[in-house]
Amino acid sequence: MKFELPALPYETGALEPVIGKQTVELHYGKHFQAYITNLNNLIPGTKYENMELVDIVKSSDGPIFNNAGQALNHDIYFLSFSPNGGGAPSGKLAEAINSQFGDFENFKKEFNAAAVSVFGSGWAWLAKDANGKLSIEKEPNGSNPVVKGLVPLLGFDVWEHAYYLDYQNRRPDHVNALWNIIDWKAVESRY
Ligand code: MN
Repeated sequence: MKFELPALPYETGALEPVIGKQTVELHYGKHFQAYITNLNNLIPGTKYENMELVDIVKSSDGPIFNNAGQALNHDIYFLSFSPNGGGAPSGKLAEAINSQFGDFENFKKEFNAAAVSVFGSGWAWLAKDANGKLSIEKEPNGSNPVVKGLVPLLGFDVWEHAYYLDYQNRRPDHVNALWNIIDWKAVESRY
């Protein structure tokens, strides 16, 4: 198989109470795995067969785009958390956030508003352009900021499968809690 599920850098129950063990087991072990399995089944014999994942997302549509996008999205998502996470970013990313959004608290407020207002299934992203300028992007379904020529730094999955077992319909509570497990070192490494 070309694409494989990345190993989690934490135990499936380690993100509790922000994300429950059962949610991680289903979301990572079933949903994320299914996107990868589907993609591996869809690309043999196509022009996407030997492409990097990001390039598939940039150049495909239909079922290949949906599954490649979600493979990329969840790869970033699950590697952005740590049971010792939270706090605030540092270094160049912190400087850019403060300069563009005023301060970290205001950035979180704007990001939360974007995540809460995605209609239906989709994602909220912090992304950067080629000059390092930051932006908050809302993407529907399995899309990713790479389709706009941007580099994704941090993504919040607001599909119901990401939070329904733990928060039911309370998406704002889930989004607000996610900040407590963000691994800023991982996010800063993408900036
Ligand atoms: Mn998901």
